[in-house]
Amino acid sequence: MAEQVDVVIVGSGFGGSITAFRLAELYRAAGADPRGIVVLERGRRYKHTDFRQSMDIDHLSDVYNLIQGNGAQVVTANAVGGGSNLYLAASLRAPTETFERRDRRPGDGPERRMWPAELSRRSLDRYYRRAELGLRVNRPTWAQVSKSGGLWAATLRAAGHTCDRVPLAISPRRCVNAKWCHTGCIFGAKNSLITNYLPSAERLGVQVRPNLRVDSVRQSSARPYRYLVSAAAMDNEGPNPTRQPSGSTVELECKVLVLSAGAMGNPSILMRSRNDLPALSDQVGKNLGVNGDHIAAIEYDPNRVHQVLGLPPYRHFFQGRPITTMSYDWWVGRRNHRFDGTRFNLQEIFLSSLTNFLYDDGRAPEGDPSWWGLQKKQAIANWANRIELLAMVEDTHDGQFYGVPPQGGGAVKPNSGPVEVGLFNYGLSEQSLAVRESANAAMQRIAETRGLGRFMKLTETQGAYASHPLGGCRMAGSADLGAVDHSGAVFGYEGLYCIDSSIVPTSLGVNPSLTIAAVSERCAELLTGRAGDLGLPARPARFRPAIPSEIVGDRVVPRHRGS
Ligand SMILES: Cc1cc2nc3c(=O)[nH]c(=O)nc-3n(C[C@H](O)[C@H](O)[C@H](O)COP(=O)(O)OP(=O)(O)OC[C@H]3O[C@@H](n4cnc5c(N)ncnc54)[C@H](O)[C@@H]3O)c2cc1C
Repeated sequence: MAEQVDVVIVGSGFGGSITAFRLAELYRAAGADPRGIVVLERGRRYKHTDFRQSMDIDHLSDVYNLIQGNGAQVVTANAVGGGSNLYLAASLRAPTETFERRDRRPGDGPERRMWPAELSRRSLDRYYRRAELGLRVNRPTWAQVSKSGGLWAATLRAAGHTCDRVPLAISPRRCVNAKWCHTGCIFGAKNSLITNYLPSAERLGVQVRPNLRVDSVRQSSARPYRYLVSAAAMDNEGPNPTRQPSGSTVELECKVLVLSAGAMGNPSILMRSRNDLPALSDQVGKNLGVNGDHIAAIEYDPNRVHQVLGLPPYRHFFQGRPITTMSYDWWVGRRNHRFDGTRFNLQEIFLSSLTNFLYDDGRAPEGDPSWWGLQKKQAIANWANRIELLAMVEDTHDGQFYGVPPQGGGAVKPNSGPVEVGLFNYGLSEQSLAVRESANAAMQRIAETRGLGRFMKLTETQGAYASHPLGGCRMAGSADLGAVDHSGAVFGYEGLYCIDSSIVPTSLGVNPSLTIAAVSERCAELLTGRAGDLGLPARPARFRPAIPSEIVGDRVVPRHRGS
């Protein structure tokens, strides 16, 4: 017998947490009990003190999924709070031009504006503001910019370019400049969802249930209930978790179902449910994107840094916040960069110095053999002299899921480790390749300014490498072009929603979380506006959305603060 609740939300990342909080507010305002709102999350629940400043494979296996698809590698999160636990907290509004894009992959429908007519930078601004308040986004001062970010800013200036500071969802009071956001912040300095939207929703009464993976959904005929959700209990806890289903399942019946499992999660849930949801758009599982992520690096000559930039040797690469500066010079306002599909932004990001295996040594793909891996060793020997760059380019969404794992989940998970096999193809379009080459040329020119350094292009890692998957259930004006409408409502199914990264229809030119949050705030507002029609408490006229409280909880408080 299924447990009957009002709302099931699948996934507790940006889309899920924001929707849960806004629905809980509505319930309280209407005098109803928010315990009828249930969030199902496949991953574990962590306090800040449970995270580890370590690349230990066991911790990575707990919090990460490294999904190897055909033509792209994608990194996603697996825990209560979703990607906000791991993200580097760069929180930017997408530029106006993003929402006006008309370029698209060959064969992807008629000439049109790729975002639904209801969404523009102007119409999203109030939701951006709401999300910025919830996530406590602030722009660092130049004194708070990391050494690596400052080096990038100085390099850009020497090359005749501008640079700006990146707004961050990091508390300036709690941050100790450890530059270690990516396996969870033990200091509770990052304004992850587990410090704001999610605990605020729980305080209001929402139930968050970890270690439950939703694999498929069915329609219910027991009105007012509409959907049946089955979830597999995951063996995630204890000393030797298998991180596989433990064998037991739970079933919930709900009036409203919100899928917020992300771009790597929602498409497979819907594709697996197609027999029971036959009217789903055939766009489900298509138009998967990587937000134009394109990684490269500069290896500096410390003498030239001193002579040309007047900076001391670059030693403090390991300190600061992981993302602090970027240039928009290739986006707008410059000749030749006004056109869709040609623009990109260049951001300094702390990546491979952490892992030393994230990307390659930049050797030419053909040419002299590198006996003994000499070039790799040289690159590693110089790693303290390099910075990584993330170009976010205007590519097209080139991916498509071709199947779903028969044993459940969004990707095939062969064992308890973090690596999974994604059942999707990713073939970069001509535009996606060309705009990446333009970004490479710009980065190379800057790197080589007055002999400052050497440009290191990704040459050994083929295809796309991304931590910003988008799409797979994109928004559109009609079911022949997308899976959901501008409010996240799934075409053809009353009360069924996708609210998260999976509905974003194009690359953004900036890191995506704030846009996902703003789009989710907007979808949640439209959902609460329709709540009465869907059998939930009707929204009272006096209802006003509030700012979620800051609830940080246990954290490590260092005795000696970093500078
Ligand atoms: C290392 C790293 C650094 C990043 N840095 C930045 C940054 O600095 N700035 C930025 O803007 N973005 C950054 N991102 C990207 C950002 O985290 C994501 O874009 C964002 O989290 C996506 O939000 P979402 O709500 O769509 O999904 P998620 O936040 O991924 O949440 C989805 C949730 O659903 C759960 N789930 C999935 N499938 C199921 C299922 N079947 N059943 C139940 N639960 C399920 C997942 O475990 C997860 O908790 C980073 C990502 C990574 C991995």
